[in-house]
Amino acid sequence: MNVYDTIIIGAGISGLTAAMYAARKRMKFEILSNNFGGQFNISGEVLNYPGIVKTTGLEFSSVMEKQMEFNDVKVKTEIVKKLEKMGSNFKVTSDKGSYETQTVIICTGSNARKLGVPGEQRLANKGVTYCSICDGPVFSGMDVAIIGGGDAGLEAVDFMKDLAEKIYLVVRGKEFTAHEYLQEKVKSNPKVEVLYNTETKEILGDKFVNGLRYEQDGEEKTLSVKGVIIEIGRVANTGIFKGTVPLDEDGHIMIDCQAKTPVPGIFAAGDCASGHEYQYVISAGQGCMALIKAARHLASK
Ligand SMILES: Cc1cc2nc3c(=O)[nH]c(=O)nc-3n(C[C@H](O)[C@H](O)[C@H](O)COP(=O)(O)OP(=O)(O)OC[C@H]3O[C@@H](n4cnc5c(N)ncnc54)[C@H](O)[C@@H]3O)c2cc1C
Repeated sequence: MNVYDTIIIGAGISGLTAAMYAARKRMKFEILSNNFGGQFNISGEVLNYPGIVKTTGLEFSSVMEKQMEFNDVKVKTEIVKKLEKMGSNFKVTSDKGSYETQTVIICTGSNARKLGVPGEQRLANKGVTYCSICDGPVFSGMDVAIIGGGDAGLEAVDFMKDLAEKIYLVVRGKEFTAHEYLQEKVKSNPKVEVLYNTETKEILGDKFVNGLRYEQDGEEKTLSVKGVIIEIGRVANTGIFKGTVPLDEDGHIMIDCQAKTPVPGIFAAGDCASGHEYQYVISAGQGCMALIKAARHLASK
């Protein structure tokens, strides 16, 4: 078996950045991912990436695609199933084969957190969605509930404001946790009714969503809505690494400030790593850090 310098798992911004650095260092590597771009594919406007005044996730992704072509990086469409120690190296097994490598850079990102209420799973894609940008237009002219008072929830409101007829914004706490500028947009929009101190109990509907049962200040009530957009945070995609690298209590891969995990030779970057703030610029920076430290690890062997 060929032994690689590094295998990068995940082709979101963190993995792609690591791959660009690996290519420029002429390392022997592969980048494996089940899709190109990760959360680029579901982000709307991006207004906080240094050097880019304004873009969208999809535009950003297509620029990165060109940057990968320029650096001769080819992402292999493979789903990694297992990571194992193999002597002083590692074995990465995907749905299409396996790779022996001296280092591994885990950049598997995160997925939407689920509410865990009755009706959610059954009505997924039948009115329940975790991505307003992907599915929001389906609810044009309808009443919707958006769950979540953080940045993602309020961004979803902003995206839906010209599409939905009425938006109920369901917030568990007594105030928003989102940035001020997003709060200002929501508070000044007459289409939006904010329900604070509100716990979603059930998503209602037979074949499709037709309502939401909730509890507010000890009282149970029902909303009539055709769509439920759930924006309550992220869960790290790290299940397959459990037992190989230590995870923190929220399931993120534990790293230090050099993107090193406690297992020498394994690095992690982006949303899947501990202490993350779910930002493009942090993910890109950590991808770069992880690759440079992996190269130093190889040099010191
Ligand atoms: C709606 C939305 C809007 C956002 N807006 C902004 C914004 O405006 N500004 C900002 O800074 N940040 C924003 N973010 C956050 C930003 O998108 C993330 O922080 C960033 O994309 C994380 O990049 P990543 O490379 O760590 O992970 P991801 O982009 O999640 O990429 C991970 C990749 O790994 C792949 N993968 C996972 N498991 C496996 C496996 N077993 N085998 C193979 N491949 C695998 C995934 O398919 C994916 O391609 C937004 C996020 C969302 C959801």
